[in-house]
Amino acid sequence: MNTMKKFIRYYKPYKTIFFLDMFCALVISLIDLAFPQILNYLNATFYLQSKDAIMKGLLYLAIGLFVMYVIRSICRYYVSAQGHIMGSRMESDMRQELFDQFERLSFSYYDENNTGEMMSKLVSDLFDISEFAHHGPENIFISLLKIFGSFLLLLYIHVPLTIILMIVTICMLLFSLAQNKKMQATFMDNRKKIAGVNARLQDSLAGIRVVKSFANEDIERNKFSESNLQFLDSKINNYHCMGRFHAGNNFFQGMLYLTILVAGGYFIAQGTLSPVSLATYALYINIFVAPIEVLVEFTEMFQKGFSGFRRFLDVMETKPEIRDCVDAQDLTDVEGVIDYHNVSFSYNADEPVLENVNIHIDAGKSIALVGPSGGGKTTICSLLPRFYDVCEGSITIDGKDIRSLTLNSLRKAIGIVQQDVYLFTGSILENIAYGRPDASKEEIIDAAKKANIHDFIMSLPDGYDTYVGERGTRLSGGQKQRISIARVFLKDPKILILDEATSALDNESERHIQKSLEELAKNRTCITIAHRLSTIRHADEIIVIGENGMEERGTHEQLLKENGVYANYYRLQFEGLDD
Ligand code: ADP
Ligand code: MG
Repeated sequence: MNTMKKFIRYYKPYKTIFFLDMFCALVISLIDLAFPQILNYLNATFYLQSKDAIMKGLLYLAIGLFVMYVIRSICRYYVSAQGHIMGSRMESDMRQELFDQFERLSFSYYDENNTGEMMSKLVSDLFDISEFAHHGPENIFISLLKIFGSFLLLLYIHVPLTIILMIVTICMLLFSLAQNKKMQATFMDNRKKIAGVNARLQDSLAGIRVVKSFANEDIERNKFSESNLQFLDSKINNYHCMGRFHAGNNFFQGMLYLTILVAGGYFIAQGTLSPVSLATYALYINIFVAPIEVLVEFTEMFQKGFSGFRRFLDVMETKPEIRDCVDAQDLTDVEGVIDYHNVSFSYNADEPVLENVNIHIDAGKSIALVGPSGGGKTTICSLLPRFYDVCEGSITIDGKDIRSLTLNSLRKAIGIVQQDVYLFTGSILENIAYGRPDASKEEIIDAAKKANIHDFIMSLPDGYDTYVGERGTRLSGGQKQRISIARVFLKDPKILILDEATSALDNESERHIQKSLEELAKNRTCITIAHRLSTIRHADEIIVIGENGMEERGTHEQLLKENGVYANYYRLQFEGLDD
Protein backbone atom coordinates (compact mmCIF):
# COMPACT_ATOMS: atom_id res chain seq x y z
CA MET A 1 0.00 0.00 0.00
CA ASN A 2 2.90 2.20 0.82
CA THR A 3 4.23 1.55 -2.67
CA MET A 4 0.87 2.56 -4.10
CA LYS A 5 1.03 5.86 -2.22
CA LYS A 6 4.48 6.52 -3.58
CA PHE A 7 3.23 5.73 -7.05
CA ILE A 8 0.29 8.08 -6.78
CA ARG A 9 2.71 10.87 -5.84
CA TYR A 10 3.96 10.86 -9.42
CA TYR A 11 0.47 11.81 -10.66
CA LYS A 12 0.50 14.99 -8.62
CA PRO A 13 1.96 17.39 -11.19
CA TYR A 14 -0.58 16.10 -13.72
CA LYS A 15 -3.71 16.25 -11.58
CA THR A 16 -5.65 18.28 -14.12
CA ILE A 17 -4.81 16.00 -17.03
CA PHE A 18 -5.59 13.00 -14.88
CA PHE A 19 -9.05 14.16 -13.87
CA LEU A 20 -9.90 15.34 -17.38
CA ASP A 21 -8.75 11.96 -18.63
CA MET A 22 -11.01 10.20 -16.15
CA PHE A 23 -13.88 12.50 -17.02
CA CYS A 24 -13.51 11.71 -20.72
CA ALA A 25 -13.37 8.01 -19.91
CA LEU A 26 -16.60 8.44 -17.97
CA VAL A 27 -18.30 10.17 -20.91
CA ILE A 28 -17.19 7.42 -23.29
CA SER A 29 -18.58 4.73 -21.01
CA LEU A 30 -21.88 6.52 -20.56
CA ILE A 31 -22.30 6.97 -24.30
CA ASP A 32 -21.55 3.31 -24.90
CA LEU A 33 -24.07 2.34 -22.27
CA ALA A 34 -26.70 4.64 -23.75
CA PHE A 35 -26.50 3.29 -27.29
CA PRO A 36 -28.52 0.05 -26.87
CA GLN A 37 -31.04 2.03 -24.85
CA ILE A 38 -31.55 4.42 -27.77
CA LEU A 39 -31.92 1.51 -30.15
CA ASN A 40 -34.42 0.00 -27.80
CA TYR A 41 -36.38 3.24 -27.81
CA LEU A 42 -36.28 3.27 -31.60
CA ASN A 43 -37.54 -0.28 -31.82
CA ALA A 44 -40.13 0.02 -29.17
CA THR A 45 -41.81 3.29 -30.08
CA PHE A 46 -41.17 4.19 -33.70
CA TYR A 47 -43.31 1.63 -35.42
CA LEU A 48 -46.32 2.74 -33.43
CA GLN A 49 -46.23 6.24 -34.93
CA SER A 50 -47.22 7.93 -38.17
CA LYS A 51 -44.79 8.11 -41.06
CA ASP A 52 -44.26 11.88 -40.63
CA ALA A 53 -43.58 11.52 -36.95
CA ILE A 54 -41.08 8.72 -37.71
CA MET A 55 -39.23 10.90 -40.23
CA LYS A 56 -39.04 13.76 -37.75
CA GLY A 57 -37.98 11.38 -35.01
CA LEU A 58 -35.29 9.97 -37.24
CA LEU A 59 -33.95 13.43 -37.94
CA TYR A 60 -33.71 14.19 -34.20
CA LEU A 61 -32.13 10.83 -33.65
CA ALA A 62 -29.55 11.45 -36.39
CA ILE A 63 -28.66 14.85 -34.96
CA GLY A 64 -28.56 13.45 -31.42
CA LEU A 65 -26.36 10.52 -32.38
CA PHE A 66 -24.11 12.78 -34.45
CA VAL A 67 -23.51 15.10 -31.50
CA MET A 68 -22.98 12.12 -29.23
CA TYR A 69 -20.35 10.62 -31.50
CA VAL A 70 -18.57 13.91 -31.97
CA ILE A 71 -18.35 14.20 -28.18
CA ARG A 72 -17.25 10.60 -27.90
CA SER A 73 -14.50 11.13 -30.49
CA ILE A 74 -13.22 14.23 -28.74
CA CYS A 75 -13.11 12.32 -25.48
CA ARG A 76 -11.42 9.38 -27.20
CA TYR A 77 -8.79 11.75 -28.57
CA TYR A 78 -8.16 13.18 -25.14
CA VAL A 79 -7.88 9.78 -23.51
CA SER A 80 -5.56 8.42 -26.21
CA ALA A 81 -3.32 11.42 -26.68
CA GLN A 82 -3.30 13.23 -23.34
CA GLY A 83 -3.47 10.01 -21.35
CA HIS A 84 -0.39 8.66 -23.08
CA ILE A 85 1.34 12.01 -22.85
CA MET A 86 0.70 12.05 -19.12
CA GLY A 87 2.18 8.54 -18.85
CA SER A 88 5.23 9.64 -20.80
CA ARG A 89 5.70 12.74 -18.71
CA MET A 90 5.63 10.64 -15.56
CA GLU A 91 8.10 8.25 -17.18
CA SER A 92 10.34 11.17 -18.08
CA ASP A 93 10.21 12.51 -14.51
CA MET A 94 11.14 9.12 -13.15
CA ARG A 95 13.95 8.66 -15.66
CA GLN A 96 15.43 12.01 -14.67
CA GLU A 97 15.16 11.18 -10.98
CA LEU A 98 16.82 7.86 -11.66
CA PHE A 99 19.67 9.50 -13.51
CA ASP A 100 20.19 12.03 -10.73
CA GLN A 101 20.22 9.17 -8.25
CA PHE A 102 22.80 7.29 -10.32
CA GLU A 103 25.00 10.37 -10.22
CA ARG A 104 24.65 10.50 -6.44
CA LEU A 105 25.29 6.85 -5.64
CA SER A 106 28.72 5.95 -4.30
CA PHE A 107 31.42 3.74 -5.78
CA SER A 108 30.46 0.91 -3.46
CA TYR A 109 27.07 0.73 -5.19
CA TYR A 110 28.70 0.31 -8.57
CA ASP A 111 31.05 -2.33 -7.17
CA GLU A 112 28.02 -4.44 -6.32
CA ASN A 113 25.75 -3.87 -9.30
CA ASN A 114 26.21 -4.61 -12.96
CA THR A 115 25.47 -1.26 -14.52
CA GLY A 116 24.70 -2.55 -18.02
CA GLU A 117 22.11 -5.00 -16.78
CA MET A 118 20.74 -2.45 -14.39
CA MET A 119 20.29 0.17 -17.09
CA SER A 120 18.55 -2.06 -19.61
CA LYS A 121 16.25 -3.43 -16.94
CA LEU A 122 15.36 0.03 -15.77
CA VAL A 123 14.68 1.31 -19.27
CA SER A 124 12.12 -1.44 -19.89
CA ASP A 125 10.80 -1.11 -16.35
CA LEU A 126 10.16 2.58 -16.90
CA PHE A 127 8.26 1.84 -20.08
CA ASP A 128 6.07 -0.68 -18.26
CA ILE A 129 5.49 1.81 -15.48
CA SER A 130 4.43 4.48 -17.95
CA GLU A 131 1.99 2.14 -19.71
CA PHE A 132 0.51 1.15 -16.40
CA ALA A 133 0.37 4.72 -15.14
CA HIS A 134 -1.75 5.75 -18.07
CA HIS A 135 -3.84 2.67 -18.82
CA GLY A 136 -4.21 1.51 -15.24
CA PRO A 137 -6.69 3.97 -13.78
CA GLU A 138 -8.50 4.41 -17.07
CA ASN A 139 -8.87 0.67 -17.73
CA ILE A 140 -10.09 -0.05 -14.25
CA PHE A 141 -12.44 2.89 -14.27
CA ILE A 142 -13.98 2.33 -17.72
CA SER A 143 -14.22 -1.42 -17.25
CA LEU A 144 -15.83 -1.31 -13.84
CA LEU A 145 -18.23 1.37 -14.97
CA LYS A 146 -19.28 -0.64 -18.00
CA ILE A 147 -19.56 -3.89 -16.08
CA PHE A 148 -21.69 -2.41 -13.32
CA GLY A 149 -23.68 -0.14 -15.60
CA SER A 150 -24.56 -2.87 -18.05
CA PHE A 151 -25.21 -5.32 -15.23
CA LEU A 152 -27.80 -3.00 -13.71
CA LEU A 153 -29.42 -2.49 -17.10
CA LEU A 154 -29.43 -6.24 -17.75
CA LEU A 155 -31.12 -6.79 -14.40
CA TYR A 156 -33.57 -4.06 -15.25
CA ILE A 157 -34.47 -5.77 -18.51
CA HIS A 158 -34.87 -9.27 -17.12
CA VAL A 159 -33.84 -10.71 -13.75
CA PRO A 160 -33.99 -14.52 -14.33
CA LEU A 161 -32.13 -14.20 -17.62
CA THR A 162 -29.42 -12.20 -15.84
CA ILE A 163 -29.04 -14.89 -13.19
CA ILE A 164 -28.41 -17.46 -15.91
CA LEU A 165 -25.99 -15.04 -17.55
CA MET A 166 -24.09 -14.67 -14.27
CA ILE A 167 -23.59 -18.41 -13.94
CA VAL A 168 -22.04 -18.70 -17.40
CA THR A 169 -19.98 -15.55 -16.79
CA ILE A 170 -18.53 -16.93 -13.59
CA CYS A 171 -17.45 -20.11 -15.43
CA MET A 172 -15.84 -17.90 -18.04
CA LEU A 173 -14.10 -15.81 -15.43
CA LEU A 174 -12.67 -18.85 -13.66
CA PHE A 175 -11.34 -20.17 -16.94
CA SER A 176 -9.89 -16.76 -17.86
CA LEU A 177 -8.14 -16.34 -14.56
CA ALA A 178 -6.61 -19.81 -14.68
CA GLN A 179 -5.40 -19.35 -18.25
CA ASN A 180 -4.16 -15.91 -17.47
CA LYS A 181 -2.03 -17.21 -14.61
CA LYS A 182 -0.35 -19.63 -17.00
CA MET A 183 0.07 -16.85 -19.50
CA GLN A 184 1.70 -14.64 -16.88
CA ALA A 185 4.22 -17.34 -16.13
CA THR A 186 5.14 -17.55 -19.81
CA PHE A 187 5.48 -13.78 -19.99
CA MET A 188 7.86 -13.85 -17.03
CA ASP A 189 9.83 -16.60 -18.70
CA ASN A 190 9.92 -14.54 -21.92
CA ARG A 191 11.43 -11.62 -20.10
CA LYS A 192 14.06 -13.75 -18.41
CA LYS A 193 15.02 -15.33 -21.72
CA ILE A 194 15.26 -12.06 -23.63
CA ALA A 195 17.42 -10.67 -20.83
CA GLY A 196 19.67 -13.69 -21.39
CA VAL A 197 19.84 -12.96 -25.12
CA ASN A 198 20.68 -9.31 -24.46
CA ALA A 199 23.33 -10.15 -21.90
CA ARG A 200 25.01 -12.54 -24.37
CA LEU A 201 24.87 -10.01 -27.12
CA GLN A 202 26.27 -7.24 -24.96
CA ASP A 203 29.05 -9.44 -23.64
CA SER A 204 30.07 -10.59 -27.10
CA LEU A 205 30.04 -7.11 -28.57
CA ALA A 206 31.90 -5.55 -25.66
CA GLY A 207 34.54 -8.26 -25.93
CA ILE A 208 34.59 -8.42 -29.73
CA ARG A 209 38.33 -7.69 -29.89
CA VAL A 210 39.07 -10.61 -27.57
CA VAL A 211 36.66 -12.86 -29.47
CA LYS A 212 38.39 -12.15 -32.75
CA SER A 213 41.91 -12.30 -31.42
CA PHE A 214 41.25 -15.81 -30.11
CA ALA A 215 39.28 -16.69 -33.26
CA ASN A 216 36.48 -17.86 -31.01
CA GLU A 217 33.58 -16.65 -33.15
CA ASP A 218 32.13 -20.17 -33.30
CA ILE A 219 32.02 -20.53 -29.55
CA GLU A 220 30.30 -17.17 -29.25
CA ARG A 221 27.92 -18.11 -32.02
CA ASN A 222 26.92 -21.32 -30.26
CA LYS A 223 26.44 -19.61 -26.93
CA PHE A 224 24.31 -16.99 -28.59
CA SER A 225 22.33 -19.49 -30.61
CA GLU A 226 21.50 -21.39 -27.42
CA SER A 227 20.04 -18.32 -25.72
CA ASN A 228 18.30 -17.32 -28.92
CA LEU A 229 16.58 -20.70 -29.26
CA GLN A 230 15.60 -20.72 -25.62
CA PHE A 231 13.93 -17.39 -26.16
CA LEU A 232 12.14 -18.72 -29.24
CA ASP A 233 10.86 -21.77 -27.31
CA SER A 234 9.66 -19.52 -24.58
CA LYS A 235 7.77 -17.34 -27.08
CA ILE A 236 6.19 -20.36 -28.77
CA ASN A 237 4.99 -21.56 -25.41
CA ASN A 238 3.69 -18.09 -24.70
CA TYR A 239 1.71 -17.90 -27.96
CA HIS A 240 0.12 -21.31 -27.33
CA CYS A 241 -1.06 -19.99 -24.00
CA MET A 242 -2.31 -16.78 -25.52
CA GLY A 243 -4.16 -18.72 -28.20
CA ARG A 244 -5.88 -20.85 -25.58
CA PHE A 245 -6.76 -17.80 -23.56
CA HIS A 246 -8.41 -15.94 -26.42
CA ALA A 247 -10.01 -19.00 -28.02
CA GLY A 248 -11.36 -20.11 -24.64
CA ASN A 249 -12.79 -16.69 -23.98
CA ASN A 250 -14.39 -16.63 -27.40
CA PHE A 251 -15.90 -20.03 -26.82
CA PHE A 252 -17.41 -18.94 -23.53
CA GLN A 253 -18.79 -15.82 -25.14
CA GLY A 254 -20.40 -18.04 -27.78
CA MET A 255 -21.83 -20.18 -25.04
CA LEU A 256 -23.12 -17.06 -23.39
CA TYR A 257 -25.05 -16.04 -26.49
CA LEU A 258 -26.26 -19.58 -27.00
CA THR A 259 -27.61 -19.76 -23.45
CA ILE A 260 -29.15 -16.32 -23.62
CA LEU A 261 -30.84 -16.98 -26.97
CA VAL A 262 -32.26 -20.31 -25.84
CA ALA A 263 -33.27 -19.06 -22.41
CA GLY A 264 -34.47 -15.77 -23.89
CA GLY A 265 -36.56 -17.67 -26.46
CA TYR A 266 -38.05 -19.63 -23.63
CA PHE A 267 -38.92 -16.47 -21.72
CA ILE A 268 -40.43 -14.96 -24.87
CA ALA A 269 -42.60 -18.04 -25.27
CA GLN A 270 -43.56 -17.66 -21.62
CA GLY A 271 -44.54 -14.07 -22.37
CA THR A 272 -42.22 -12.49 -19.80
CA LEU A 273 -39.83 -10.96 -22.35
CA SER A 274 -40.39 -9.13 -25.65
CA PRO A 275 -38.24 -9.86 -28.73
CA VAL A 276 -37.17 -6.18 -28.76
CA SER A 277 -35.94 -6.46 -25.18
CA LEU A 278 -34.03 -9.62 -26.03
CA ALA A 279 -32.24 -7.73 -28.84
CA THR A 280 -31.32 -4.91 -26.45
CA TYR A 281 -30.29 -7.49 -23.91
CA ALA A 282 -27.90 -9.10 -26.40
CA LEU A 283 -26.31 -5.73 -27.12
CA TYR A 284 -25.69 -5.16 -23.39
CA ILE A 285 -24.05 -8.54 -23.05
CA ASN A 286 -21.28 -7.26 -25.30
CA ILE A 287 -20.75 -4.23 -23.15
CA PHE A 288 -20.78 -6.46 -20.10
CA VAL A 289 -18.37 -9.16 -21.29
CA ALA A 290 -15.68 -7.24 -23.16
CA PRO A 291 -14.38 -5.33 -20.11
CA ILE A 292 -14.09 -8.54 -18.12
CA GLU A 293 -11.50 -9.76 -20.60
CA VAL A 294 -9.81 -6.37 -20.48
CA LEU A 295 -9.59 -6.54 -16.69
CA VAL A 296 -8.18 -10.05 -16.71
CA GLU A 297 -5.54 -9.06 -19.23
CA PHE A 298 -4.89 -5.93 -17.25
CA THR A 299 -3.58 -7.94 -14.33
CA GLU A 300 -0.50 -8.53 -16.47
CA MET A 301 0.08 -4.86 -17.10
CA PHE A 302 -0.44 -4.23 -13.43
CA GLN A 303 2.11 -6.82 -12.38
CA LYS A 304 4.69 -5.65 -14.89
CA GLY A 305 4.21 -1.99 -14.04
CA PHE A 306 4.18 -2.54 -10.35
CA SER A 307 7.19 -4.81 -10.09
CA GLY A 308 8.97 -2.33 -12.34
CA PHE A 309 8.04 0.44 -9.98
CA ARG A 310 9.32 -1.56 -7.01
CA ARG A 311 12.69 -2.00 -8.69
CA PHE A 312 12.69 1.71 -9.46
CA LEU A 313 12.03 2.43 -5.78
CA ASP A 314 14.83 0.07 -4.76
CA VAL A 315 17.32 2.21 -6.60
CA MET A 316 15.74 5.50 -5.57
CA GLU A 317 15.73 4.54 -1.91
CA THR A 318 19.34 3.42 -1.80
CA LYS A 319 21.10 6.00 0.33
CA PRO A 320 24.42 7.09 -1.18
CA GLU A 321 26.93 5.87 1.40
CA ILE A 322 29.10 8.88 0.91
CA ARG A 323 27.49 12.28 1.06
CA ASP A 324 27.94 15.67 2.66
CA CYS A 325 27.47 15.75 6.40
CA VAL A 326 24.91 18.15 7.81
CA ASP A 327 27.23 21.09 8.49
CA ALA A 328 29.77 20.38 5.75
CA GLN A 329 32.21 23.22 5.03
CA ASP A 330 33.70 24.14 1.70
CA LEU A 331 37.41 23.47 1.37
CA THR A 332 38.83 26.87 0.47
CA ASP A 333 42.31 28.35 0.08
CA VAL A 334 43.79 24.89 -0.15
CA GLU A 335 47.42 24.59 0.82
CA GLY A 336 47.59 20.86 0.34
CA VAL A 337 48.89 19.44 3.63
CA ILE A 338 47.68 15.85 3.74
CA ASP A 339 47.60 13.56 6.77
CA TYR A 340 46.44 9.97 7.11
CA HIS A 341 45.98 9.22 10.83
CA ASN A 342 45.87 5.52 11.71
CA VAL A 343 43.73 4.78 8.69
CA SER A 344 42.25 1.30 8.35
CA PHE A 345 40.03 0.25 5.52
CA SER A 346 38.38 -2.81 3.99
CA TYR A 347 36.00 -3.20 1.05
CA ASN A 348 34.21 -6.04 2.77
CA ALA A 349 34.24 -6.52 6.50
CA ASP A 350 36.34 -9.68 6.57
CA GLU A 351 39.34 -8.67 4.44
CA PRO A 352 41.27 -5.68 5.71
CA VAL A 353 43.10 -3.92 2.90
CA LEU A 354 44.76 -1.15 4.92
CA GLU A 355 45.67 -1.22 8.57
CA ASN A 356 46.93 1.70 10.62
CA VAL A 357 48.28 3.71 7.76
CA ASN A 358 50.02 6.95 8.76
CA ILE A 359 51.17 9.34 6.10
CA HIS A 360 52.10 13.00 6.29
CA ILE A 361 52.72 15.13 3.22
CA ASP A 362 53.62 18.81 3.44
CA ALA A 363 52.07 21.27 1.05
CA GLY A 364 53.67 21.05 -2.37
CA LYS A 365 55.69 17.93 -1.48
CA SER A 366 55.42 14.55 -3.10
CA ILE A 367 55.29 10.97 -1.97
CA ALA A 368 55.48 7.81 -4.02
CA LEU A 369 53.82 4.48 -3.37
CA VAL A 370 55.50 1.42 -4.81
CA GLY A 371 55.02 -2.29 -4.41
CA PRO A 372 53.38 -5.34 -5.92
CA SER A 373 49.92 -5.07 -7.35
CA GLY A 374 47.07 -5.73 -4.95
CA GLY A 375 48.92 -4.16 -2.02
CA GLY A 376 46.42 -1.35 -1.61
CA LYS A 377 48.14 1.59 -3.29
CA THR A 378 45.10 2.58 -5.35
CA THR A 379 42.95 2.10 -2.28
CA ILE A 380 45.05 4.60 -0.31
CA CYS A 381 44.47 7.15 -3.07
CA SER A 382 40.73 6.40 -3.38
CA LEU A 383 40.23 7.38 0.23
CA LEU A 384 41.46 10.93 -0.28
CA PRO A 385 38.63 12.14 -2.59
CA ARG A 386 36.25 9.98 -0.51
CA PHE A 387 35.46 7.46 -3.21
CA TYR A 388 35.24 5.28 -0.11
CA ASP A 389 35.26 6.36 3.52
CA VAL A 390 37.89 5.13 5.96
CA CYS A 391 36.69 2.45 8.38
CA GLU A 392 38.93 3.68 11.18
CA GLY A 393 41.18 6.68 11.68
CA SER A 394 40.87 9.85 9.67
CA ILE A 395 42.29 11.77 6.77
CA THR A 396 42.81 15.51 6.92
CA ILE A 397 43.63 18.16 4.36
CA ASP A 398 45.13 21.32 5.88
CA GLY A 399 44.10 19.89 9.24
CA LYS A 400 40.43 19.54 8.29
CA ASP A 401 38.84 16.09 8.37
CA ILE A 402 37.75 15.37 4.82
CA ARG A 403 34.42 14.06 6.10
CA SER A 404 33.61 17.55 7.38
CA LEU A 405 34.09 19.07 3.93
CA THR A 406 31.64 19.27 1.05
CA LEU A 407 32.30 16.52 -1.47
CA ASN A 408 32.18 19.02 -4.27
CA SER A 409 34.90 21.30 -2.92
CA LEU A 410 37.00 18.32 -1.80
CA ARG A 411 36.97 16.69 -5.21
CA LYS A 412 37.57 19.99 -6.99
CA ALA A 413 40.82 20.29 -5.01
CA ILE A 414 42.13 16.92 -6.18
CA GLY A 415 43.25 15.98 -9.69
CA ILE A 416 43.67 12.34 -10.68
CA VAL A 417 45.50 10.83 -13.61
CA GLN A 418 44.95 7.11 -13.91
CA GLN A 419 46.09 4.32 -16.14
CA ASP A 420 42.65 4.00 -17.78
CA VAL A 421 41.47 7.12 -19.48
CA TYR A 422 37.84 7.57 -20.22
CA LEU A 423 36.99 9.93 -23.04
CA PHE A 424 33.39 10.89 -23.55
CA THR A 425 31.77 10.80 -26.95
CA GLY A 426 32.28 14.27 -28.39
CA SER A 427 35.07 16.56 -29.58
CA ILE A 428 38.58 16.74 -28.16
CA LEU A 429 37.78 20.28 -27.04
CA GLU A 430 34.81 19.08 -25.03
CA ASN A 431 36.86 16.30 -23.53
CA ILE A 432 39.55 18.64 -22.27
CA ALA A 433 36.96 21.15 -21.10
CA TYR A 434 35.62 18.41 -18.86
CA GLY A 435 38.37 19.43 -16.46
CA ARG A 436 36.67 22.80 -15.96
CA PRO A 437 33.49 23.26 -18.00
CA ASP A 438 33.55 27.07 -17.75
CA ALA A 439 37.07 27.39 -19.20
CA SER A 440 37.61 29.60 -22.25
CA LYS A 441 39.00 28.20 -25.48
CA GLU A 442 42.34 29.94 -24.81
CA GLU A 443 42.60 28.24 -21.43
CA ILE A 444 41.83 24.89 -23.01
CA ILE A 445 44.50 25.38 -25.66
CA ASP A 446 46.93 26.50 -22.98
CA ALA A 447 46.24 23.31 -21.01
CA ALA A 448 46.73 21.22 -24.15
CA LYS A 449 50.08 22.92 -24.74
CA LYS A 450 51.20 22.16 -21.22
CA ALA A 451 50.17 18.55 -21.71
CA ASN A 452 52.21 18.46 -24.95
CA ILE A 453 49.21 17.49 -27.05
CA HIS A 454 48.49 20.80 -28.78
CA ASP A 455 50.68 20.12 -31.82
CA PHE A 456 49.17 16.72 -32.33
CA ILE A 457 45.64 18.10 -32.10
CA MET A 458 46.49 20.84 -34.62
CA SER A 459 47.80 18.22 -37.03
CA LEU A 460 44.35 16.61 -37.17
CA PRO A 461 42.11 17.82 -40.01
CA ASP A 462 39.42 18.98 -37.61
CA GLY A 463 41.81 20.17 -34.90
CA TYR A 464 40.10 20.64 -31.55
CA ASP A 465 36.76 19.71 -33.08
CA THR A 466 37.97 16.20 -33.89
CA TYR A 467 35.37 13.75 -32.79
CA VAL A 468 36.54 10.99 -30.49
CA GLY A 469 34.35 7.92 -30.70
CA GLU A 470 33.17 5.60 -27.99
CA ARG A 471 35.82 5.45 -25.27
CA GLY A 472 38.10 7.44 -27.53
CA THR A 473 39.04 4.46 -29.72
CA ARG A 474 40.47 6.68 -32.44
CA LEU A 475 43.41 7.81 -30.32
CA SER A 476 46.48 5.98 -29.11
CA GLY A 477 46.99 5.27 -25.42
CA GLY A 478 49.56 8.05 -25.11
CA GLN A 479 47.34 10.58 -26.84
CA LYS A 480 44.40 9.74 -24.63
CA GLN A 481 46.60 10.02 -21.57
CA ARG A 482 47.75 13.50 -22.65
CA ILE A 483 44.16 14.62 -23.05
CA SER A 484 43.47 13.44 -19.53
CA ILE A 485 46.55 15.33 -18.33
CA ALA A 486 45.32 18.46 -20.12
CA ARG A 487 42.05 18.05 -18.26
CA VAL A 488 43.86 18.12 -14.95
CA PHE A 489 45.97 21.13 -16.01
CA LEU A 490 42.71 22.89 -16.70
CA LYS A 491 41.23 21.84 -13.40
CA ASP A 492 44.35 23.15 -11.66
CA PRO A 493 43.93 21.31 -8.37
CA LYS A 494 46.21 21.79 -5.38
CA ILE A 495 46.51 18.05 -4.85
CA LEU A 496 47.49 15.54 -7.49
CA ILE A 497 47.20 11.78 -7.64
CA LEU A 498 49.07 9.93 -10.37
CA ASP A 499 48.00 6.30 -10.28
CA GLU A 500 50.23 4.39 -12.67
CA ALA A 501 49.57 7.12 -15.18
CA THR A 502 52.19 5.83 -17.59
CA SER A 503 52.11 2.10 -16.89
CA ALA A 504 50.12 1.23 -19.97
CA LEU A 505 52.43 3.13 -22.29
CA ASP A 506 55.55 2.15 -24.18
CA ASN A 507 58.88 3.59 -23.06
CA GLU A 508 58.92 6.25 -25.72
CA SER A 509 55.47 7.65 -24.89
CA GLU A 510 56.22 7.31 -21.22
CA ARG A 511 59.30 9.51 -21.50
CA HIS A 512 57.27 12.17 -23.31
CA ILE A 513 54.44 12.09 -20.86
CA GLN A 514 56.77 12.08 -17.91
CA LYS A 515 57.78 15.62 -18.78
CA SER A 516 54.17 16.81 -18.81
CA LEU A 517 53.55 15.06 -15.53
CA GLU A 518 56.55 16.72 -13.90
CA GLU A 519 55.25 20.04 -15.13
CA LEU A 520 51.82 19.18 -13.76
CA ALA A 521 53.21 18.22 -10.36
CA LYS A 522 54.92 21.58 -9.83
CA ASN A 523 53.57 23.45 -6.81
CA ARG A 524 51.10 20.72 -6.01
CA THR A 525 51.01 18.13 -3.28
CA CYS A 526 51.47 14.92 -5.18
CA ILE A 527 50.94 11.22 -4.56
CA THR A 528 52.46 9.06 -7.27
CA ILE A 529 52.01 5.36 -7.77
CA ALA A 530 54.50 3.93 -10.22
CA HIS A 531 55.93 0.67 -11.36
CA ARG A 532 58.91 2.20 -13.03
CA LEU A 533 61.06 3.52 -10.27
CA SER A 534 62.89 6.01 -12.47
CA THR A 535 59.83 8.23 -12.32
CA ILE A 536 59.72 8.54 -8.57
CA ARG A 537 63.30 8.71 -7.37
CA HIS A 538 63.00 12.41 -6.61
CA ALA A 539 59.91 12.00 -4.43
CA ASP A 540 60.22 13.48 -0.95
CA GLU A 541 59.20 10.17 0.54
CA ILE A 542 58.91 6.73 -0.98
CA ILE A 543 56.69 4.18 0.72
CA VAL A 544 57.00 0.52 -0.18
CA ILE A 545 53.70 -1.27 0.23
CA GLY A 546 53.98 -5.02 0.35
CA GLU A 547 51.69 -7.81 1.38
CA ASN A 548 52.00 -6.84 5.02
CA GLY A 549 51.27 -3.17 4.57
CA MET A 550 53.98 -0.54 4.67
CA GLU A 551 57.31 -2.29 4.58
CA GLU A 552 59.79 0.55 4.11
CA ARG A 553 59.74 4.28 3.84
CA GLY A 554 62.27 6.99 3.23
CA THR A 555 63.93 8.93 0.43
CA HIS A 556 65.46 7.18 -2.54
CA GLU A 557 68.94 7.52 -1.07
CA GLN A 558 67.92 6.32 2.36
CA LEU A 559 66.15 3.28 0.95
CA LEU A 560 69.08 2.35 -1.23
CA LYS A 561 71.31 2.60 1.81
CA GLU A 562 68.97 0.39 3.80
CA ASN A 563 69.44 -2.18 1.10
CA GLY A 564 65.97 -3.71 1.59
CA VAL A 565 63.03 -4.43 -0.67
CA TYR A 566 63.23 -1.13 -2.50
CA ALA A 567 66.93 -1.40 -3.17
CA ASN A 568 66.25 -4.84 -4.58
CA TYR A 569 63.49 -3.59 -6.89
CA TYR A 570 65.69 -0.80 -8.01
CA ARG A 571 68.58 -3.05 -8.91
CA LEU A 572 66.26 -5.40 -10.79
CA GLN A 573 64.99 -2.54 -12.92
CA PHE A 574 68.17 -0.62 -13.55
CA GLU A 575 71.14 -2.86 -13.40
CA GLY A 576 70.01 -5.42 -15.92
CA LEU A 577 69.85 -8.09 -13.21
CA ASP A 578 66.48 -9.23 -14.44
CA ASP A 579 66.09 -12.91 -13.70
P1 ADP B 1 47.07 -1.83 -5.84
O1 ADP B 1 46.63 -0.50 -6.36
O2 ADP B 1 48.22 -1.75 -4.89
O3 ADP B 1 47.35 -2.80 -6.93
P2 ADP B 1 44.39 -2.00 -4.84
O4 ADP B 1 44.28 -0.87 -3.89
O5 ADP B 1 43.79 -1.83 -6.17
O6 ADP B 1 45.91 -2.45 -4.98
O7 ADP B 1 43.74 -3.29 -4.19
C1 ADP B 1 44.00 -3.70 -2.88
C2 ADP B 1 43.12 -4.89 -2.52
O8 ADP B 1 41.76 -4.50 -2.49
C3 ADP B 1 43.18 -6.02 -3.54
O9 ADP B 1 43.21 -7.22 -2.82
C4 ADP B 1 41.93 -5.89 -4.35
O10 ADP B 1 41.48 -7.14 -4.75
C5 ADP B 1 40.98 -5.26 -3.35
N1 ADP B 1 40.04 -4.34 -4.02
C6 ADP B 1 40.36 -3.29 -4.80
N2 ADP B 1 39.25 -2.63 -5.24
C7 ADP B 1 38.20 -3.29 -4.71
C8 ADP B 1 36.79 -3.11 -4.77
N3 ADP B 1 36.23 -2.10 -5.46
N4 ADP B 1 36.00 -3.98 -4.10
C9 ADP B 1 36.55 -4.99 -3.39
N5 ADP B 1 37.87 -5.21 -3.29
C10 ADP B 1 38.71 -4.39 -3.93
MG1 MG C 1 46.38 0.07 -8.37
